[in-house]
Amino acid sequence: MNIILLGYPGSGKGTQAKVLSRKLGLFHVSTGDIFREELGRKTPLGEEVAGYISAGRLVPDKLVMEVLKSRLSTETRGLLFDGFPRTVEQAEALDAWFGSRGQAIDAVIFLDVPESDVASRLGARRTCTGCGKIYNTITNPPAKENVCDACGKPLMTRDDDKPEVIARRIQVYNDQTEPLLAYYRSSGIFHRADGSKAPDAVAEELVAMLSGKP
Ligand code: ADP
Ligand code: ZN
Repeated sequence: MNIILLGYPGSGKGTQAKVLSRKLGLFHVSTGDIFREELGRKTPLGEEVAGYISAGRLVPDKLVMEVLKSRLSTETRGLLFDGFPRTVEQAEALDAWFGSRGQAIDAVIFLDVPESDVASRLGARRTCTGCGKIYNTITNPPAKENVCDACGKPLMTRDDDKPEVIARRIQVYNDQTEPLLAYYRSSGIFHRADGSKAPDAVAEELVAMLSGKP
C-alpha cells in the first residue's frame, strides 16, 4: 500500500504519518525530515537546500526527485509520503516513476484544517532534538516544559517555524501545493479527513478510512 498525505504545513501530516506508518507497517517518507537531516550533517545536498528551507520556499522539483529516487531505490515496504508531492510537477514525476516500477498510489488523504489555524499551530510547534516527536505548546505540551516525554532530550523550535517564514510557507502552499487537490480529486483514491480534531481522533479516522484498503 502506498499513501500520500496532503495538507497545509502544520495540518498534522508529520504527527499522523508517524502513527500510521507504525500501525500499517509502512515506510514514512518525509522530504522535510530528509532535507533537515542532510542540513544537520552539513552534506553538499544540505548546503544546497538550506537557503530554500530557511526562506520557506520549495526545494526545486528536480533535486527533490533525485533525492527521493536514490533514497527509495532499495525500499521494499509500502510508502507513506508526508510533504511530497508538493507541486503538480512532482505529482507527475511520481506517477511516471511509479508507472515505470509497476507501482501505484492507493490513497491520497487530505488533512483539512482552516488556513486561519495554521500559523498559530506552527508558531506553537516544538520538535524533539532526540527522537523527532512533535509537540504543541498549547494543545499538546510535554509534561515538563521543553523536555521530551518520550526520550528526555530538549525540544526546539524549527527555524522555518518563525513568524516571517510561516507566512511565506502558507503562501507557497496556496500557490503551488493546493492545485494538487484538483489533480488527485478526480482519481477515485482521494479522501478528505477533518484535521482540526485532536491528534488521536484524527489517527482513528485515518486508520478506519484505510482499513478497507488492500
Ligand atoms: P511543513 O509541512 O511543516 O512545511 P516539511 O518538513 O514538510 O514542513 O518541509 C520543510 C521545508 O522543506 C519546506 O518548506 C521546503 O522548503 C522543503 N521541502 C520539503 N518537502 C519538499 C518537497 N516535496 N518539495 C520541495 N520542497 C520541499
Ligand atoms: Zn524525544
